Amino acid sequence: MPFDDLWPSGCAGAVSVTFDDGNERQQTRGAPALTQRGLCGTFYVTMAAQNHRTAYKGWIDIAAKGHEIGNHTCSHLCSCNFSEKPEVQGLENVSLAYLKADILAAEAKLRDLVPEQKERTFAYPCYQTWVGRGVRRQSYVPLIATHFVAGRGGGEYGFFNNPLHIDLACAIGTPTERMSCTEMIGLVELAMRRGHWIVLVFHEIGVGRLGTSEYDFQILLDHLADNKRRIWTAPSVEVARKVRDYQNKFWARPDTPIVRKSRLRKDAAG
Ligand SMILES: [Zn+2]
Repeated sequence: MPFDDLWPSGCAGAVSVTFDDGNERQQTRGAPALTQRGLCGTFYVTMAAQNHRTAYKGWIDIAAKGHEIGNHTCSHLCSCNFSEKPEVQGLENVSLAYLKADILAAEAKLRDLVPEQKERTFAYPCYQTWVGRGVRRQSYVPLIATHFVAGRGGGEYGFFNNPLHIDLACAIGTPTERMSCTEMIGLVELAMRRGHWIVLVFHEIGVGRLGTSEYDFQILLDHLADNKRRIWTAPSVEVARKVRDYQNKFWARPDTPIVRKSRLRKDAAG
């Protein structure tokens, strides 16, 4: 089995069930469905409200059941192109400093709300990892690398997180909207065959543009619960910590091929 010294004993790979935005049905349908099966996920809650202790108090109980409450910014800025209005604020017209303040404000609210969760992961709103436009476009991945165990971005269909190579600050997410349970289970099994980490992205259960049907969601969770000894399902922060430790050890090993080490050093030097 690839990476058999990485994953918990008997497990072929890892799955994280993640939700974006903190919609209400995630509290009433998503989290309970996971908890009933003894599974934990990650909920990336957008911390837009000023009165976070009142607005987001439902997440305190969910965190107490072992689910990660992740950072998804306060303002949930995406590309201006997603709006019809000419004056909209979007990633094209803000600075790195603006975004940093926004993300750290969300972080302060989260630490106040769930102080027992001292480390967490981040999800890039709309999978977009940049600010600015054209020649002035800049990545904000280094900002996420500085403050979080990992960041979840987008990816290409059928590719997952290879523990050897993945940049944890921009890990691959697999969107699940409108997918059948058989498709989701197939992707999970493909990831297990490779020994990789698949991060499934959900938005709404049963409703909306980015919805996954309740039936499909429940059957996926049944599959994950029935195969716990073979498939490790855990919040993103737990899996990312394991991958981080694995990468640190692997690249320090004397038998790691020299070519790859030097390439890595060159990349790090920029
Ligand atoms: Zn979002």
